[in-house]
Amino acid sequence: MIEHASKETGQEIVKFAVKHFGCKVNQYELQAMRELLIKKGYLPVTALSQADLLLVNTCTVTRASAAKNRKFIESVLKRYPTLRLVVTGCYIEEHFAEYACRDRIVPVRNCLKGSILSVIGAHHRDGTATQPKSPSGESAYIPLQVSEFAGRTRGFIKIQDGCSKFCSYCKIPFVRGVSRSRPFDEIVPEAERLVAHGIKEIVLTGICVGLYGRDLKDKVTLVDVVKSLARIRGIGRIRLSSIEPEQVTGELIEAIETSKIVCPHLHIPLQSGDDTILSLMRRPYSAAYYLSLVDVLRRKIPKVAISTDIMVGFPGEGENEFFNTVKLLEHVKPMRMHIFPFSPKEGTRAADLPDRISAQAVKKRAGFLKEKAQEYARLYAEDFLGKRAGVLIEERQDAKTQLFSGYTETYIRVLVSNACRDDVGGIKEVIVNRVSGQEVFGGIVKNS
Ligand code: SF4
Repeated sequence: MIEHASKETGQEIVKFAVKHFGCKVNQYELQAMRELLIKKGYLPVTALSQADLLLVNTCTVTRASAAKNRKFIESVLKRYPTLRLVVTGCYIEEHFAEYACRDRIVPVRNCLKGSILSVIGAHHRDGTATQPKSPSGESAYIPLQVSEFAGRTRGFIKIQDGCSKFCSYCKIPFVRGVSRSRPFDEIVPEAERLVAHGIKEIVLTGICVGLYGRDLKDKVTLVDVVKSLARIRGIGRIRLSSIEPEQVTGELIEAIETSKIVCPHLHIPLQSGDDTILSLMRRPYSAAYYLSLVDVLRRKIPKVAISTDIMVGFPGEGENEFFNTVKLLEHVKPMRMHIFPFSPKEGTRAADLPDRISAQAVKKRAGFLKEKAQEYARLYAEDFLGKRAGVLIEERQDAKTQLFSGYTETYIRVLVSNACRDDVGGIKEVIVNRVSGQEVFGGIVKNS
């Protein structure tokens, strides 16, 4: 039995811990489910050795992440023989049948995260992985929402789920469904709650935020969300987590250009700089389009920070195709690049494509681009040497160095030498005075 009696009320209580893998959407959802459990009387703990239940939000974006999730689940089951695992997220969605018949595991479908309490309850009552029929038909379904990110200065708001784009390598539309937007009138109150709880920077997240509003009756867009949030009293910054190239509209560029609140930082996944590969990936833009978008952004918002994702070793990516990506990146010089080796996902079109690239070539290309990523990040940071930038002070790096870390609006992480506890949660004017390898150092300007 996992319950213990509470001395005060005589009611049974369950201690639970949480763990998330993957993207910011997963982080948001985990926090929302955590709040549902707490409201119901579950007690959060950090140490697994004290927990009766572990809630895990999983990820399957690459083969490596799926393997990591599987390994984690198995090792926790082995190490903590009485712990019960409530597992949800994209990796579980993909392997639902397998986990539905495992002891001590309660799998929860992605669409039922809001019904997590009734799924756990049903499992506890009859020991099966019975899932309520659907979110709309389930009375215990509660839309996911958050009130706080305790001890944090940056908080996420999920405004959209799923994706309707079906890029040929991606499993997300299959495990999360097509794009669904959150009702517009839920978003501002949630942001207000977070700001009231000390969140200074709101990060708008979703699987494909640029699709926001397209499925709603009211004609609202991502720009409407951004503009409404920017009016909230006390909000320091709004950041977009990621946006697809073709979704960066003139209206959005103007909203960033004219606002002091919206961060001039856009994470725009490129994936490949070769048109043939982009078309095999079913990405709806060309290399020339991406380049012209970057040029427009840099002309209109001179301090804009551009970061990106690149996939290496997609089927058919020969030396010439890879070179086209390298050439494009050399022009763009993103301030941050995430490099992903292609991994075939069962059920996707790309999994059946011919002309697979050898593991050796993929490793070599990924290694090359990782070095390039470091070079571009350093060059970008060095450009700030001697200049002032607002840094949202987040936390102390470690007790020994006494350095506090925080991010500029352009997403450079700065280690600040003269900050103190009272500065945490404030946006301070910092002079960048040193760049060493991948680390950037600075000091707060007095009286800022
Ligand atoms: S845009 Fe493409 S890669 Fe991104 S979630 Fe949608 S299908 Fe996947």
